[in-house]
Amino acid sequence: MSDYDYDLFVIGAGSGGVRASRVSAAYGAKVAVAEEYRVGGTCVIRGCVPKKLLVYGAHFAEDLKDARRFGWNVPDCSFDWAVLRDNVMGDVDRLNGLYTQGLENAGAEIILERATVTGPHEVTLASGRTVTAKYILVATGAHPHVPDFPGSDLGITSNEVFHLDKLPKRIVIAGGGYIANEFAGIFNEFGSRVTLVNRSDVILRGYDQSIRDRLLQISLTKGIDFRFHAEFEKIEKLDDGVRVHLSGQDPMDVDVVLFATGRVPNTMGLGLEAVGVELDAQGAVKVGDDNRSTVDSIYAVGDVTNRVQLTPVAIREGQAFADTIFGDKPHTVDYSCIPSAVFSHPPMAGVGMTEGEARNKLGSVKVYTSDFRAMKNVLAGRHERALYKMICDGITGRVVGLHMIGPDAPEILQAAAVAVKAGLTKDAFDQTVALHPSMAEELVLLK
Ligand code: NDP
Repeated sequence: MSDYDYDLFVIGAGSGGVRASRVSAAYGAKVAVAEEYRVGGTCVIRGCVPKKLLVYGAHFAEDLKDARRFGWNVPDCSFDWAVLRDNVMGDVDRLNGLYTQGLENAGAEIILERATVTGPHEVTLASGRTVTAKYILVATGAHPHVPDFPGSDLGITSNEVFHLDKLPKRIVIAGGGYIANEFAGIFNEFGSRVTLVNRSDVILRGYDQSIRDRLLQISLTKGIDFRFHAEFEKIEKLDDGVRVHLSGQDPMDVDVVLFATGRVPNTMGLGLEAVGVELDAQGAVKVGDDNRSTVDSIYAVGDVTNRVQLTPVAIREGQAFADTIFGDKPHTVDYSCIPSAVFSHPPMAGVGMTEGEARNKLGSVKVYTSDFRAMKNVLAGRHERALYKMICDGITGRVVGLHMIGPDAPEILQAAAVAVKAGLTKDAFDQTVALHPSMAEELVLLK
């Protein structure tokens, strides 16, 4: 008999916490998972999943327009935000049910309460009940950062954006990263007047420069207004919306301000430091490769560790934790060559080194590009051009990076990322016969 109430107590039922709980329970561990909001976490409840559904919904604006060039007699259409919002939320409810069921089927106990750490092996629930566990796993994720200036509380974040009562006619989006560019595309397609405000003139830092330049150019053409090097001075409430004051610019009256200025690890008030768990300057739990914190019995996975803020990475960390601690299959996560995508309009995706990184690291590099108009866009009379870029080691020919923007870029890149991860050369791509006609065939025809 264990001296503890549970073998594992997980705090947070998001992507990392759910995977760790389910797999640990399947290995025979007695597992409880505490969740203060809804099972599924950011990705399922107010992140990747509802966002992607909005992206699909938004893209109909272009498809309906283009359909006429393909012979369809499309009558005048209008968009109903409430219908899409409620259908998306219905799907979120469905997934919330599936995640709950998955945990229960695996034998994990779900406790819908906030939990705080009160000892190396002790957790206290909001109800006041104290439980003990051999291991505690912190998987509490992160929350949106809102800059501090007068009236910043009048804005919303990605937590609220899915629930808006009505579609904003005018929206200011703060930030130039993933969330800002994805929602700029979504609202622009729905017909809102979108202004993206960023503190620098660099959007999507970390992506290859040619690809993000192409997104900027296409976004401008689609009518998104960009304000660079702009600081928020204040936001004032109006009877009808808000007035936004930016440095060096005329005030702007809009319906909604959305902050998409990064995410902060959820460690506040969790009791971690009091029991000896060290946090970094951003408040993230410091962990080693084995996900262990500075307290032997306390581990952390996912966004709360601020390593790579991506769902599939959190899932891998949760899996590695469970395999190592309860499955007798110790392993660590390989963080190299993680593919990622921005679901902008059009989407972009990348894996491996950017051209800049490769030049700094390898010195000798060869870059191949294809700058083309997808045939569907040609017939539709849409002037938007796709850009694919392959970065190769100049000596060995190994493909060290692949970056693209264009229709279905994330779908294409996920498959091609296998080749990059496997260390294949440009020659291996060249030897593969093209699948014609497709956009992906550009990858094997690069000159
Ligand atoms: P990002 O880190 O992508 O972008 C944050 C943006 O806000 C940057 O432009 C940054 O500027 C700016 N910024 C940061 N702090 C401030 C500040 N104090 N004042 C003004 N501007 C500021 O964060 P997001 O919020 O868009 O998304 C959070 C994370 O969630 C992403 O990093 C990503 O890991 C994940 N995510 C992934 C998605 C996907 O996989 N498709 C989709 C959505 C989110 P600067 O560049 O100057 O630092």
